[in-house]
Amino acid sequence: MADKSFNAFEMAQKQFDHVADQLNLDQATRDMLRWPLREYHFSIPVRMDDGSVKVFRGFRVQHNDARGPAKGGIRFHPQETVDTVKALATWMTWKCAVVDIPLGGGKGGVICDPHNLSQREQEQICRGWVRQVWKNVGPLADVPAPDVMTSGQHMLWMLDEFEHIRGEKLPGFITGKPLGMGGSQGRTEATGYGVIYCVREACKQLGIDIKKATAAVQGFGNVAQYAVKLFNQYGGKVACVSCWDQHDQTSYTFKKKDGIDVDFLLGITDRFGGIDKKKAAAAGYEVLPGNAWIEQDVDILIPAALENQVNAETVKLIKPSVKMIAEGANGPTTPEADAVIKSRGIFVIPDFLANAGGVTCSYFEQVQCNMNYYWTKEEVLQRLDEKMTAAFLAVAELAKNRGVYMRDAAYMISIQRVAEACRMRGWI
Ligand code: NAD
Repeated sequence: MADKSFNAFEMAQKQFDHVADQLNLDQATRDMLRWPLREYHFSIPVRMDDGSVKVFRGFRVQHNDARGPAKGGIRFHPQETVDTVKALATWMTWKCAVVDIPLGGGKGGVICDPHNLSQREQEQICRGWVRQVWKNVGPLADVPAPDVMTSGQHMLWMLDEFEHIRGEKLPGFITGKPLGMGGSQGRTEATGYGVIYCVREACKQLGIDIKKATAAVQGFGNVAQYAVKLFNQYGGKVACVSCWDQHDQTSYTFKKKDGIDVDFLLGITDRFGGIDKKKAAAAGYEVLPGNAWIEQDVDILIPAALENQVNAETVKLIKPSVKMIAEGANGPTTPEADAVIKSRGIFVIPDFLANAGGVTCSYFEQVQCNMNYYWTKEEVLQRLDEKMTAAFLAVAELAKNRGVYMRDAAYMISIQRVAEACRMRGWI
């Protein structure tokens, strides 16, 4: 988000147009799918701890709900823009469709920096967000979830406000809830693990022995942490992770020759995924510039932080050793970088497939809430693995059969499913 000229929604539309051309989509379908169905912009007034009132800007975008209620996270970020939210809502539509769950695409956000807000102020933002938009969301309309810099606690405050307004218990309104409060086992692990289920299957197809594979990861938040953990469990080594340093207002890469120790790093990581660089250096970690993660001699790159990280400039830094890019983050790769990656023959697991584990588990959470019966962690992860593996294999097979780029293949599957739902409903 640091690059002001980058517009995530234009990128999402570009990606869509590219595949719409290949699919020969008619004009009405294009007009339907390249724009959100609905967009809500609102103000959230909050009485701050010092007694002053601050007004925050909030958004909710529902890109498409032909296949089921809209679904998507709520981000808290100081540089949040409605175009980023629109792009993310669009990607949610494709994400739910590619893993074939009966949900549509939505996304929300608030322009704010939780680093500088007390818990009480954050709670007021959450409750204020619901007060502004409760008529337009709900278990059968649009179901929010945590995302960048929001957590289960934020979701619970939102649920509490929603249930208070509606005067009934509606645990299916929101997902990513804490365990014991309607949350699902496995949700914390789901996105990072989902990335690695795909990586595992891709390794088999590319003839890479995962036990000997090396990876470099951008980010050390929820997605990255669990991706690193499962990759390690499968025997792979993670050369480095990178993260944002709140104090220095820049990013760093933390590298260890024999592979990073995830549990050690977790012990010196703050709740926003920032690593203490003095403690890391004292433990023998090299502390390198933020971009160093992309220029490592590894088999696999896993961008799992933000959008626009693999771009026309940084793509030049990718070493010949890299055989695969697994996109944990949403929109980490720009179309310019895609062209280079394609020409170099690097295998890509595109974002809305790779990181679909989160929404798949959120769907499981809703199912469990509706039954009021909860599965064990093993059951959840087993079902997650099945869904992710099936989705990955379907995309990889289409890419192989039609000789198309993995991102295009994933788009083809999703766009066709959503277009079909719109047609069957008589919308187009
Ligand atoms: P998070 O807030 O838990 O972690 C983000 C990480 O990125 C932190 O370690 C932070 O320090 C790091 N970071 C921020 N700016 C950086 C920079 N400029 N350079 C290097 N590192 C930087 O977020 P998360 O939940 O792990 O989400 C990461 C990405 O994955 C986002 O794009 C998000 O939209 C996407 N995603 C998340 C989920 C989920 O379930 N959490 C699901 C799907 C997609």
